Amino acid sequence: MAAPATPRSRGDVEHTGPVISLRGVSRSYRVGGGTVDALTDVDLDVSAGELVVVLGPSGCGKTTLLNMIGALDVPTSGEVTIAGRVLAGASRADLFRYRRETVSFVFQTFNLFPTLTALENVRFAVEVSGRRDHGEARAALESVGLGERVQHFPGQMSGGEQQRVAIARALATGNPVILADEPTGELDFRTGVQILELLRAQALAGHTVVVVTHNREISRAADRVVELSGGRLVADGPPPGGRVDVGALRW
Ligand code: ADP
Ligand code: MG
Repeated sequence: MAAPATPRSRGDVEHTGPVISLRGVSRSYRVGGGTVDALTDVDLDVSAGELVVVLGPSGCGKTTLLNMIGALDVPTSGEVTIAGRVLAGASRADLFRYRRETVSFVFQTFNLFPTLTALENVRFAVEVSGRRDHGEARAALESVGLGERVQHFPGQMSGGEQQRVAIARALATGNPVILADEPTGELDFRTGVQILELLRAQALAGHTVVVVTHNREISRAADRVVELSGGRLVADGPPPGGRVDVGALRW
């Protein structure tokens, strides 16, 4: 079966291997007189079209790992390669462009602008990614079921609706890599299922999707579960018992 086409940001060269590749990635923080090893010697490859769930308890290094992939932070040692490019070798301008045009983050706390409407929030992200909005912003909001809420401000929406705006923002940019940090963390079951289905649809469309969670039940709907414990990758494979449909999850 042919692999789905990889959506690419403008100017990217044709690339065939994994979209995300980490080799021996470690990140330590100096705190007071000591060090905290947030991530230790992680190897990871993620291909276009995959929905990978990173699973582990609070403090195991999940956000640190996403920050490495999203170039929001730099490893203490090891190498991060995205679409064939080593991030450590990139210029500041390249990194800036990478953050705008290649990755879309969905944060647990949404990070919407409170003074912009849903539509304006999504449009702003499209423009920041260097594109013009030709209706993509509205279409993305409609795709997450918020067609009737485009003129609402974040403060006028529920947590689940705000999270869906944050997802629409990630979809509207068309960026090929989607990184979601506990996107269902504060949502009720039904909304959580909707969010997961949206992310799965993105993967099916050829995006590379990494979702972080501490909820093992959510991980059952992934193609692949990468488990972290104390900053180390301790498992990487299909969920035990095989993948189940999002609709079959219980939480
Ligand atoms: P998770 O997202 O799985 O909850 P994190 O990646 O946020 O875990 O954190 C992993 C570990 O690194 C934790 O022990 C945390 O306290 C520590 N840590 C994270 N960020 C920092 C920082 N900026 N300075 C010091 N320690 C940090
Ligand atoms: Mg975290």
